[in-house]
Formats: sequence, structure tokens, C-alpha cells
Amino acid sequence: MRQRIAVVGAGPAGLTFARVLHRHGHPVTVLERDPSPAARPPGGTLDLHRGLGQLALEKAGLAAEFAALSRPEGQAMRIHAPDGTVLRDWRPHPDDRANPEIDRGRLRDLLLGPLDVRWGRAVTRVAPGPDVRIHFADGREETYDLVAGADGAWSRTRPALSPATPHYTGVTVLETSLDDIDTRHPDLARLIGDGSLAVYGANRSLVAQRGSGGHVKVYARFRAPLDWHTDLDLTDPEAVRTYALSLYAGWTTPALALLHHGTAFTHRPVHTLPVTHTWPHTPGLTLLGDAAHLMPPLGAGANLAMLEGAELAESLLSRTPVPTFEKQMWARAAKWATITTAGLQRLVSPDPMEAIAHFDEVQPS
Ligand SMILES: Cc1cc2nc3c(=O)[nH]c(=O)nc-3n(C[C@H](O)[C@H](O)[C@H](O)COP(=O)(O)OP(=O)(O)OC[C@H]3O[C@@H](n4cnc5c(N)ncnc54)[C@H](O)[C@@H]3O)c2cc1C
Repeated sequence: MRQRIAVVGAGPAGLTFARVLHRHGHPVTVLERDPSPAARPPGGTLDLHRGLGQLALEKAGLAAEFAALSRPEGQAMRIHAPDGTVLRDWRPHPDDRANPEIDRGRLRDLLLGPLDVRWGRAVTRVAPGPDVRIHFADGREETYDLVAGADGAWSRTRPALSPATPHYTGVTVLETSLDDIDTRHPDLARLIGDGSLAVYGANRSLVAQRGSGGHVKVYARFRAPLDWHTDLDLTDPEAVRTYALSLYAGWTTPALALLHHGTAFTHRPVHTLPVTHTWPHTPGLTLLGDAAHLMPPLGAGANLAMLEGAELAESLLSRTPVPTFEKQMWARAAKWATITTAGLQRLVSPDPMEAIAHFDEVQPS
């Protein structure tokens, strides 16, 4: 009998896992809490690294599609000081395909392809055993031979394997966005260029990232206690805008315009799991992506999630023991968690020049 396999979560990890199994003709059940793919905005843009996310797409047979959908020019990066001084203006070589950007929505649609996701299936708990039992919010239960928990930062699968819970890093983010920037805000469009604009000040930064179709996501990152907003109504965009503008008082007008023109604001406190998060191997059950190794959002999480999804699928197809896969995943994730944790400290630092030094170390010359 073929193994009955389920994955909890239709994010980058779960979809890549399912897509590689599907490519090799192995059935897999994808269980997703969202009621439909359109239930919430898909988010901004992701850069997929050659040896990580791009490798995962190769394993899924989707490299050519990625090449057609991605934006190599989106790798461009400008850094300004809060007074507008240009500190760095890095543009990729026309042939550079090291880290092209792709809209999250496009990536999700690419991975979804022929997959038959079961939407609206919120998992509440997973219990290991000879049959792994999945409990759903509507009271139903199902059993499988193998369950991969790819259900993100606040995973409902993780507690079956590990007592670890995400902790707050002391850095939080207010996210907003601008649409049709080329027609509505041409000056800002020129400022941002083809890729990203980052402005670093003491203990705060503003990062604007261009996606397709003139859509720009803006991330205002700053250090604050987790309850910094007790006197602020986060559902009131004008109140949040006023607060955000006060945080960046004295910065140049173009930088502040990113906040002035932003539409709704979303609060995203940055949480992480311990850098070396592991768990005792448990037959029939494992974790992928953020559920396994939540780290600061600095360009690695989705890449790792996708590669792990692809590698777990390949391990199952080749009957490689799951603990072998887990050890490889843990080692690689610990390396990236260390890098991104140090990166967050430097990018939101009392000394803004730390951010520039970080950029110079990670960016190809
Ligand atoms: C602002 C921001 C920018 C980022 N930029 C980058 C970047 O440029 N590059 C990069 O590599 N990474 C980036 N990341 C990190 C990246 O988004 C995550 O690491 C990645 O999405 C993890 O993928 P995942 O599949 O493990 O989890 P998720 O993307 O969180 O997907 C989990 C899925 O599980 C579903 N789910 C959750 N709970 C349940 C449940 N109980 N039952 C059923 N389904 C459930 C969710 O609805 C979701 O669809 C960024 C993160 C943020 C916040």
C-alpha cells in the first residue's frame, strides 16, 4: 500500500512538498486553513536564491516558468541616509539570476498548478501514533501514515513534536503599500527604482520594495516593546499613519511620503524560534518551513521552506529515512537563523552604519 501523506499548510513549504510528490505521481493531501486562495492578500515579493528556492523549483519541474515570471531587475537595491544622502546604489548585471524577485501571489499560483488543495480545513491538533491523527476545527478527524506540518509560525502541528514557541525579538514592523506607483507617484517610483529602497536611521528603518504592476510594499521596522501600541487603535489607519510619521520625524520628505501615501497598515511583530530548534524524531510526523525554524524575515525563510518541502518529498520517494532529512534541514536552518538573527540586530541598530556594513558583506560587489 502506498503511504497516505498529508501536509498541513499551503504556503511555500507545503505547496513545494506537494508539487514534487505530484510530479512523481504520488498522491498527497494538502490541508489549508484559508477558505480559498483569494481569502487574504498574497503579500509582497520574495527573492528566490539560486541554491535554495530556485533549486526547489527545479526539483518541482518549474524552473522555466519561474524564469518567465520572475524579475531579475528587482534585485536592485538603493540605500539612503535619513537626510536623503545616497549611500549605495547597487544594480544587478543584466545576466544576474542569483536572487530574482517574484510576487508571492504568482509563486503561489505557480506552485498550486494542478494541486487539489482542500481549502477551509483548519487543523487544531495533530497526534502521533501508528496512524497519525489530524483534528480539525470543525470536529472532524482524519488519519495518515505521514504528516508534514508546514503551517507556519504559529503551527498547530509543532506542539506534537516540540514545546518551543516563538519569542518576540524586540523589533516590530508596520507594513503598508502603494498601488500604481508609476502613474500616481512617479517621483517615488524613480526613487525606488526597479528593486528596493532602504533608509536606515537609529533603531529604525524604512524599506520599500517594488512588485509587479506598480505595487510597492513599505516596511517600517523599529525597536519597541511588544505592547508599544496600547494607546493606539491599530484598526484606525490614520491614527497608525500619524504614529508612524512621528517615529520618522526629521527624515526627508520622499521617505516620509512612503508612509503618507500608504494605504492600510498591518502590524507584524518579528518573532523567532530558537536558532537551533530540533525535536526528537517521531515516526510519521515532521515539520517544514517556519513551523520548524521561524527566523527574522531577511530573505531566507521562504527559500528554506521550499527547499525543505522539495527535499522531504524526494526523501519519501527514494525511501531515505526521515531523520536523515531532518538532520540536514536542522543544520542548514541553524546556519541561516544565525545569519538572519545577526542581520536583524545590525539592520535595526543604534548605529545606522551597521546596516551599511551588513549590506556590503552580503551583497555581491
Ligand atoms: C514581511 C515579510 C517579508 C519576507 N520576505 C522574505 C523574502 O524576501 N524571502 C524569503 O525567503 N522569505 C521571506 N519572508 C519569510 C517567508 O515569508 C516565510 O519564511 C515563508 O512564508 C514560510 O513558508 P511556510 O510555508 O513555512 O509558512 P507560511 O508561508 O506561513 O504558510 C503556512 C500556511 O499554513 C496555513 N495554516 C496555518 N495554520 C494552519 C492550520 N492550523 N491549519 C491549516 N493550515 C494552516 C496558513 O494559512 C498558510 O497558508 C518574509 C516574511 C515576512 C513576514
